[in-house]
Amino acid sequence: MGRYTGPACKKCRRVGMKLFLKGDRCYMAKCAVEQGRSVPGPHGGNRRPRLKDYGIQLQEKQRLRNMYGMREGQFRLFFHRALRARGVTGELLLQALEMRLDNIVYRMGLAPSRRAARQFVRHGHIRVNNIKVNIPSYKVKPGEVIQARDVKRSRDFSKAHLDAAESRGWPAWLNVDKNEFKAEVTHIPTREEIAPVVNEQLIVELYSK
Ligand code: SF4
Repeated sequence: MGRYTGPACKKCRRVGMKLFLKGDRCYMAKCAVEQGRSVPGPHGGNRRPRLKDYGIQLQEKQRLRNMYGMREGQFRLFFHRALRARGVTGELLLQALEMRLDNIVYRMGLAPSRRAARQFVRHGHIRVNNIKVNIPSYKVKPGEVIQARDVKRSRDFSKAHLDAAESRGWPAWLNVDKNEFKAEVTHIPTREEIAPVVNEQLIVELYSK
């Protein structure tokens, strides 16, 4: 199945939560969730369907998966890696998602959304420890430095987004140098430092069936 290319806001309306898929618009009053827009589809309306256990778990998984813009197969792979590792599975899953290169490019503000960050990485604008990396799912390690290429085209694109990210505040686990368009990952974020407001335990229960 190909990547979803339809309206991003529809995904947020479907799961009833802001997934931050459209960059600056997500922080404005015209955001569809802020406006209380209804569930998409002919049976949408203002009433949300009442979900049972499985539906709640599935919705939670869809929220997280869509937030990071991943396909089901890749997301499931991340889950099984977290399941095999030592520690709390839900937390390890969130940490693995946060340490993806495209996510960090988005978090530091080089791109307005994860989707844009993925394309920015794919097009070769990003260097990790001064080496070009064009794999969005690259797993960044603590101590590594992510930087936009020292080329006018790359940096012009990022400038406004960096300013916006600074005004919102950078995550505590990133040491951002705005003038150099770079950030060092100081440590793997703790659960408290990770922004998604999903209940990851429900996802663990869903996949453990
Ligand atoms: Fe659209 Fe962003 Fe609001 Fe989601 S959070 S509904 S993508 S504007």
